[in-house]
Amino acid sequence: MGRDLLTELLDRNAEHVASLDVDAFRGQRDGQRPPVVSVCCSDSRVSQGGMWAVDRPGFLFTAGNIGNRVSARVDGERVLAGSVAYPLAYTGTDALAVVGHTGCGAVGAALSAVRTGEFPEEPGVRADVEELVPIVEAGLDALDGGGGAGAEEGRSEEAADVRNRLVEYNVHEQVAIARGTETAAAADVYGFVYDFHGAYGGPDGAAYLVNVDGERDPDALRERVGPEHADRVATLL
Ligand SMILES: [Zn+2]
Repeated sequence: MGRDLLTELLDRNAEHVASLDVDAFRGQRDGQRPPVVSVCCSDSRVSQGGMWAVDRPGFLFTAGNIGNRVSARVDGERVLAGSVAYPLAYTGTDALAVVGHTGCGAVGAALSAVRTGEFPEEPGVRADVEELVPIVEAGLDALDGGGGAGAEEGRSEEAADVRNRLVEYNVHEQVAIARGTETAAAADVYGFVYDFHGAYGGPDGAAYLVNVDGERDPDALRERVGPEHADRVATLL
C-alpha cells in the first residue's frame, strides 16, 4: 500500500511537471512577490490553490494549520505566526485572507473540549485546539445572545449549524487578531468561509466573504465587491 501511494505521488508530480508552461517560473526564480497570503485550515477537502484557481506560481503565499489561526506563541506571548508575518514583512505582500471552512474538525474539537473538558491527547494537537477554546467559548456566548446555542444538545443538524457558526466566528476573531498586530496593521485583511455543506445556501466550493478589515456588515461588504459577487457575501451570525 505504501509503495502504491509513493508511486501515486511521483505520478502526480509528473503530471504537475507536464502541466507547467515552459515560462511558468519566468520572473519567479530569484524571488517572490505574492499579492496575498492565505491562512486556511489544514484540511484535505479544502485546497487553497484550488479555491482561488491558482494556476501560476507566485500568486498565493499559503499558510495552513488546524483551525486557520494567524497567531503563534513566542515566550508565552501571542504574535503573528511566522508563516503569515513573513510575506507581509519580506515579500511585498499586502493582503491577508483568513479562510475557515464548514464542518471544521478543529473547531469541532475545541467545541467538544469546551463541553466535555476533553482534549485530543497528542500534545501538538492539544496545543492547537487549546488556542481555539477561548474563541469557541466567546462564540458560544455570542450565539447564546442570539438565541442560537440552545441547539447544542439538539439534533445533529443543529449541532452542525452551531459548529459552522463558530467557524465563522473564529474567522472574525482571527481577522481581529491579525489586525491587532503591527506587522499586519497596514495590510488588507479578508475573512472567508469555504463551504462544502451548503451552509450558506450556495454551491460546494464557494468561498463566502464575511469580513473585510473588520467590517462584517453584509450590505457594506456587498457594496465593496459589487453586484457580480454579491451572492458570495453572507453570514451565519
Ligand atoms: Zn478545519
